[in-house]
Amino acid sequence: MTTIYLKPHKEESLLRRHPWVFSGAIARVTLDRDDPHSEPQEGDLVQVRSAADQLLGIGHWQIGSIAVRILAFGIDSLPADFWHQRICAAYAVRQSLGLIRSDNDTYRLIHGEGDFLPGLIVDIYADTAVLQAHSVGMHRCRQAVAEAIVAGIPEVKNVYYKSDDTLPFKAPVQGDKVGYLISDAQSPVSHAEEFWSMENGLQFRIDWLRGQKTGFFIDQRENRALVERYAKGKEVLNMFCYTGGFSLYALRGGAKSVDSVDVSQKAIDLVNANVAHNFPKANNHTAVTADAFEYLTAQKTANRTFDLIILDPPAFAKHRDAVRNALRGYQRINAKAIEMIRPGGILFTFSCSQAVDKEAFRLAVFSAAAQVGRNVRILHQLHQPQDHPINIYHPEGEYLKGLVLYVE
Ligand code: SAH
Repeated sequence: MTTIYLKPHKEESLLRRHPWVFSGAIARVTLDRDDPHSEPQEGDLVQVRSAADQLLGIGHWQIGSIAVRILAFGIDSLPADFWHQRICAAYAVRQSLGLIRSDNDTYRLIHGEGDFLPGLIVDIYADTAVLQAHSVGMHRCRQAVAEAIVAGIPEVKNVYYKSDDTLPFKAPVQGDKVGYLISDAQSPVSHAEEFWSMENGLQFRIDWLRGQKTGFFIDQRENRALVERYAKGKEVLNMFCYTGGFSLYALRGGAKSVDSVDVSQKAIDLVNANVAHNFPKANNHTAVTADAFEYLTAQKTANRTFDLIILDPPAFAKHRDAVRNALRGYQRINAKAIEMIRPGGILFTFSCSQAVDKEAFRLAVFSAAAQVGRNVRILHQLHQPQDHPINIYHPEGEYLKGLVLYVE
């Protein structure tokens, strides 16, 4: 196996269990004598050692500033049941957290570094797991992971792989980036088309073939439950609604009306299907396909106001260079929303940009409140839920933050 030797003192972060080796920390690479290549191939398993030859761990080699993502510390080869062990451990955590119940079969099983499997995401929708690789190393292990999931989780019968948008572009990748790895259904495609998954007793149509990410945003589950608590009698506006997660909870919470807005027609079709399925008699829901900024401007012109607004935009900053513009975007959209809240109303506002930290986000929302000139108080500070855990040695895993504001 290829060995990566670090520069002196560069082992310290690994000894503190941070799972990344940056390319600048590497002194030299010693290839396996049998390896015909002149350098490690992207996705190879490599051993990492300190300058003093102390074994630090084993991980996936990657081209780019993160050169190795560590899978296991202190050992130089992965045990034969490695995937099985990690999958079962993650499943046991979700069970112990009470996330797997007759009224909830939607949860994240593997959250990358948060589950000690850097580069891997697995979401569970009833009997189907959707697997997403963010590294070539995980792409190369996809079949072993799929088999470990089906062997370790009795409910799961299908594993769909969806990595067309997530694999790095720097190296060519062998094999398909999308498709079923394991399938129990007679016709997996029609299975996906009629598929319903349950979150806290609400049913959602999940379309992992054509939907965004793995098909659903599981990370807002707990925050949606909080919206339900505040929704009674309110006129609610759910901006960036996608499949209508927040809308369904608001309806169940007794909202007077719910307006759901998304730029994607496919998303709006799913919201309508989800509302009709869960609340067949509801006549207080409206779904609109529109750009958020244009929609809010038009509502303002029409003097429309709401009691409760949810703002859950896509990541405005996909990387560090985009942070300044992203903060301006957060300020603009939050100012527009705060303006439209009735006195005594509530704003749920989120950022899922990993590159924007919670202080910066709070400052953007503060600037928005100051710009509008209303009295605004923070009621809750929200974050990602327990099935998206943050490895304490890898604070970069924190990405979702939200504020619940009381607007006078
Ligand atoms: N709140 C959702 C997840 C939101 S994901 C949930 O609970 O599931 C972000 C959504 O914003 C996506 O559905 C995307 O289609 C939508 N979107 C992106 N740009 C937009 C824009 N300019 N205006 C309105 N919606 C937009």
